[in-house]
Amino acid sequence: MMREATLYSNLKQGIRCDLCARRCVLHDGETGFCRVRVVKDGKLYTKVYGLIDGMAADPIEKKPLFHFAPGSHAFSISTSSCNFRCQFCLNYHSAHREVPAGEMIMPEEIVHLAERHNCAGITYTYTEPTVFMELAHDTAEIAHNKGMFNTFVTNGYLTKEAIDYIAPYLDAASVNFKGSGNKKFYNDLMSVPKVEPIFTAMDYMNKKGILIEITNLIIPEVGDHPEDTEYLAKWTVEHLGPRTAFHVTAFSPTYKLTHIPRTSAKMLEKHIAIAKEAGLEFVYSGNIPGHDYENTYCPECGYKVIERHSVYLKSNNLNEQGLCPQCNANLNISGIQWMVRGKGQLGRF
Ligand code: SF4
Repeated sequence: MMREATLYSNLKQGIRCDLCARRCVLHDGETGFCRVRVVKDGKLYTKVYGLIDGMAADPIEKKPLFHFAPGSHAFSISTSSCNFRCQFCLNYHSAHREVPAGEMIMPEEIVHLAERHNCAGITYTYTEPTVFMELAHDTAEIAHNKGMFNTFVTNGYLTKEAIDYIAPYLDAASVNFKGSGNKKFYNDLMSVPKVEPIFTAMDYMNKKGILIEITNLIIPEVGDHPEDTEYLAKWTVEHLGPRTAFHVTAFSPTYKLTHIPRTSAKMLEKHIAIAKEAGLEFVYSGNIPGHDYENTYCPECGYKVIERHSVYLKSNNLNEQGLCPQCNANLNISGIQWMVRGKGQLGRF
């Protein structure tokens, strides 16, 4: 179903899409880089409104969001397409489709399904939510009015206009970096011309009160430069604060990068140490189940506040206000109204 897009400008040179930092300028019949926005009779349309390509009820920790509504479940949805072309995309079947596909499910029904699956909120994920912004916006508005949360898992390549549009309903965002944001890596392996818009967008989301967690995928040989992790970690401390959750995650060979080995625990620990040295107080490991850096420790008294295994919560000992139960330290954890205290998803067994 084609639906007129919300954010575009009619310029002398053509129709400019204002959703992501590519700002494609298109003429009649042309489709944007993401393949799901097309100009017809002088108007921009989205091809994926309601066309759901992926759907599941996930622990919020899987996004990964460790500092938002711990222990809750998020109903996760996606459509086809992306505005990046990562050669190591885990969801390439959906993200790199030539023609969008899926099942038509409208916003009211998405929220209804989330409720039926006992989810406290909705996450727009798997592919890039920026390219299905209108669907995310309309769904998020309904969910928000019902007291549910909304979170994005995003590459961060969205414009200020797009942030203004979704911000009233967006509670948190997991911003995913690969190779610590190295410019050449983004150019060569992700077809992304520049990385600066991601930092601009994070600053703006932070200003709008959206909780940000950063995920940084370390890829051996091509995206593992220590100085890039140091830059990203220092930027995070300076712009978002030392208590921002920072996930350092391991790569698994996939798609076009099957010749690259898996990230070792040793390599991951090296990057974790760099991030901590830069001043970050909550640095987590990802994709190494059972690693001690999956847990949350109070930086003031050292108490193990939240225990996890992989993306599952074993126990959440935060107090009712979301503070450290031992010393009342503020651990920069939000979405407290939706959190599950006590034994979590794994702790019940
Ligand atoms: S969302 Fe991005 S890639 Fe897609 S048409 Fe708009 S500016 Fe281009």
